[in-house]
Amino acid sequence: MLTVEHLESGYGHMQILWGVELAVAEREVHVLLGANGAGKSTFFKVLVGLLPAWSGGVRIHDRDITSLSARERVKLGLGYTSETGIFPDLTVDDNLRISALALPSVDRKEAIEAAYGRFEELKSRRHDLAGGLSGGQRKLVAIARALVVKPAVLLMDEPSSGLSPRYVTEVVERLSELRGTTTLVVAEQNVSFLDIADSVSVLEGGRIKFSGSKGAFSNNEALRNAFFGLE
Ligand code: ATP
Repeated sequence: MLTVEHLESGYGHMQILWGVELAVAEREVHVLLGANGAGKSTFFKVLVGLLPAWSGGVRIHDRDITSLSARERVKLGLGYTSETGIFPDLTVDDNLRISALALPSVDRKEAIEAAYGRFEELKSRRHDLAGGLSGGQRKLVAIARALVVKPAVLLMDEPSSGLSPRYVTEVVERLSELRGTTTLVVAEQNVSFLDIADSVSVLEGGRIKFSGSKGAFSNNEALRNAFFGLE
């Protein structure tokens, strides 16, 4: 579904990603674990076309998307939520409407209603400013914004960022409801997200140090200690 081969990239002359490889199967939930500064956000920026790849390739299904624009990648089904992911000064409704602009105009209304159907608690807050919602609900707005365009693959950059543990649990639960509906890649340093993982990769210093099933990750004592030690 999503395949990344020997990806290298960085900022200016500073290389951040070193030969990153990733393979995520259709409808799988993949958790990319990495500490602060490991290169998770940089990796996602390259995948979505916000930062150019220096070398290597990215494919969705069998289509090479490495040199496509960010807009073309969205059209091919690549969704993305950044760490913040919302416009706090706009209403919930307007946040969703802006995402829906990527769709043909006839499909927009239905797509927004479908997002509210999934996150009913947002519907009653649709006219409220997104920035005034609770931390957990703000994340739901970010997820709903990404889902409006019905992505085939959704990349979520650190959904736990800025959330208290209670809201992290809520976001993990809500993401688990997406299981089986879309391919999900979650970049995180919070191991709570392993609960919903089918497969796991570990990024360290811009290099993939481990990639495998959740079971293989759990059986690797050194990795487990490293990450559970971060908590
Ligand atoms: P975090 O959880 O802190 O966001 P991360 O794993 O997402 O961490 P990145 O944000 O990708 O890591 O950062 C990887 C490295 O790239 C860090 O050393 C960071 O300082 C550097 N970096 C990130 N953005 C830029 C930028 N715009 N220009 C130069 N260096 C950057």
